[in-house]
Amino acid sequence: MPSSSWSEDRLDTLKGVGPKMAVRLERLGIHSVTDLLFHLPMRYQDRTRVRPLGSVRPGEEVTIDATVQLNEVILRGRRMLVVRVADGTGSLSLRFFHFSLAQQNMLARGTLLRCFGEIRLGGQGLEMVHPEYRILRPEGEPLELSLTPIYPTTEGLHQLGLRRLTDQALQRVDSLPDYLPPQLLALAGLPDLLSALRFVHRPPQDAPLDELLQGQHPAQRRLAFEELVAHHLSMEKLRRQTTQQPAAALRSAGKLLDALKTQLPFALTAAQQRVIAEILEDMARPQPMLRLVQGDVGSGKTLVALAACLQAIESGYQAVVMAPTELLAEQHLRNFKAWLEPLGIQTAWFSGKQGVKQRREALEAIETGSAAIAIGTHALFQEELQFRNLALVVVDEQHRFGVHQRMALRDKGQRDGHLPHQLIMTATPIPRTLAMTAYADLDYSVIDELPPGRQPVQTVAISDQRRNEVVDRIHHAIREGRQAYWVCTLIEESDALQAQAAEHTHEALRTALSDVSVGLIHGRMKPREKEAVMSAFKQGDIQLLVATTVIEVGVDVPNASLMVIENAERLGLAQLHQLRGRVGRGSTQSSCVLMYHPPLSETAQHRLNAMRASTDGFEIARIDLELRGPGEVLGTRQTGMMQFRIADLLRDEAMIDDAKQVAASLLEDYPDRVELLIDRWLGDAQAYGKVG
Ligand code: ADP
Ligand code: MG
Repeated sequence: MPSSSWSEDRLDTLKGVGPKMAVRLERLGIHSVTDLLFHLPMRYQDRTRVRPLGSVRPGEEVTIDATVQLNEVILRGRRMLVVRVADGTGSLSLRFFHFSLAQQNMLARGTLLRCFGEIRLGGQGLEMVHPEYRILRPEGEPLELSLTPIYPTTEGLHQLGLRRLTDQALQRVDSLPDYLPPQLLALAGLPDLLSALRFVHRPPQDAPLDELLQGQHPAQRRLAFEELVAHHLSMEKLRRQTTQQPAAALRSAGKLLDALKTQLPFALTAAQQRVIAEILEDMARPQPMLRLVQGDVGSGKTLVALAACLQAIESGYQAVVMAPTELLAEQHLRNFKAWLEPLGIQTAWFSGKQGVKQRREALEAIETGSAAIAIGTHALFQEELQFRNLALVVVDEQHRFGVHQRMALRDKGQRDGHLPHQLIMTATPIPRTLAMTAYADLDYSVIDELPPGRQPVQTVAISDQRRNEVVDRIHHAIREGRQAYWVCTLIEESDALQAQAAEHTHEALRTALSDVSVGLIHGRMKPREKEAVMSAFKQGDIQLLVATTVIEVGVDVPNASLMVIENAERLGLAQLHQLRGRVGRGSTQSSCVLMYHPPLSETAQHRLNAMRASTDGFEIARIDLELRGPGEVLGTRQTGMMQFRIADLLRDEAMIDDAKQVAASLLEDYPDRVELLIDRWLGDAQAYGKVG
């Protein structure tokens, strides 16, 4: 996979690269000298200064010089050597689980050591576990002169080996072309490529340490900037692959939408109307729409999706709505049916669990066109499903689906080279700049308003030692005519265990609250059972619904105004926010009890505090990003998508707008550089290319 035509780019022109080494390098995605130059340090170690023990903090990686005070072998579960050292400003324990007698003897009282390692907080105060160390000569020893780069490595290839190879590669760095136009870089105040690469691989002696360690040095920013540009270019390429194909231009008069509006017991919010207008404008064009709609839980995304479907149907085409869970898909089905049947429009239902006959009927209805809308889960991917004329794909809660699945549905609608329009709905309210990067292949609308009359959910965190009080509180609320959820959580992903825990809680609550009708819903139940429970809850026949996190996404029962989340400390912020979004949908004051099992970890405490302090999805998403990082929040880490080498979407947020503009001007003025940049930074991991 040559990144350029440069003759010395072959890896085997480097000393130390034979066939075996080439295989190892390949595992790191390194196929050329250029790739090696873009294999950037993920961090640096500071071995340039000795830190006084009195100044070190847990989590820091430091060099210390200290004298051995005491050395003893202790047995605490396992045998270990503990060496107590001090430097006059403080003291520290070195802990070794693997050690020899000779080693123990060498670490005798009075020996002066230089150690490098991470400071941890142990039972007996600060400690280092298996530090690198050496015995210092009395006359002292020189420190490293500059920061030590730490590269991503692989088995059989260690830091030193990578550093040797990079040293050789850096001698050839002058032949590397800089694809970013200098005038644009000067605008952003960033250095040229070659000096940036040299600096980042081998920071000079006088490099500002803190800046570099925080990834804020102009050399790092320059590379991060180029990486962001490359990312935008690859997403744009993906986008063009879709938008350069034709689509049916859907320009109906909007009679169905008008009819729907007269049916609704409320008016659409201004935000809903604006977003619907944006969507309809897209759909009226002869190119496929690619639009992401973001809206906090409860902002009314379902109606926006429905409006888009009506536009397709009125123009004589079909639409498909895909949801990530049975429960959510069933709810869409119920809602859509209730809205569409009065308009004389038929829906078809697709689920992995439906019977043969039902399935055959649904397939036929879609194939003949007697049903204008297909609603379902992943079952919509089945090969037998052939649309008569699909023109719109709606995907709800996009973060649960991979992009490749979206593409697969899109391809179902491909007819005579025409692609369907795509509408993606997500309740993960990520900041705009992040969305611009993560979903750069999509246009983007935000429903930034909740329907009127909603009151923020009051949230409290209560230890499970006060469980009885919580049960009393629920009892009281239910006697006042309110409905409540009791959510059971488990760390295990297993449906079976979750169901078991919920069944157990269900029994316990039924016994405790004998005059209350307590229902149960979990992922192991049959669709028909689930549907029966949900509709009983909706009608008020069930007063307290014990549920697993299956209700997390999209379930809508406006009269439910109280929620208890058990073991709330186990859930992430996004999930807690989604769950809590199930209440606060009517106009009564709602509350949410986050019941936790003490003691709380520090992050769990942060999460629960954030939930108590805010009901704003954007605010919560921002905190979530800080706690977990973009890869986790967007669910892209597992898929390997959006893994940056040096850019950091949070840290580099301020550059994202500029990077997008530079990408646009490259496409316009230097189209021949586009592929080269994408190749250089994304190599074999081109956006989505390797998925599916
Ligand atoms: P989400 O954005 O979480 O998918 P839903 O589409 O499920 O939200 O809508 C949440 C609730 O708000 C539903 O009960 C829906 O009927 C109601 N709703 C939607 N739009 C409005 C509106 N403009 N005014 C009042 N209620 C609305
Ligand atoms: Mg929804």
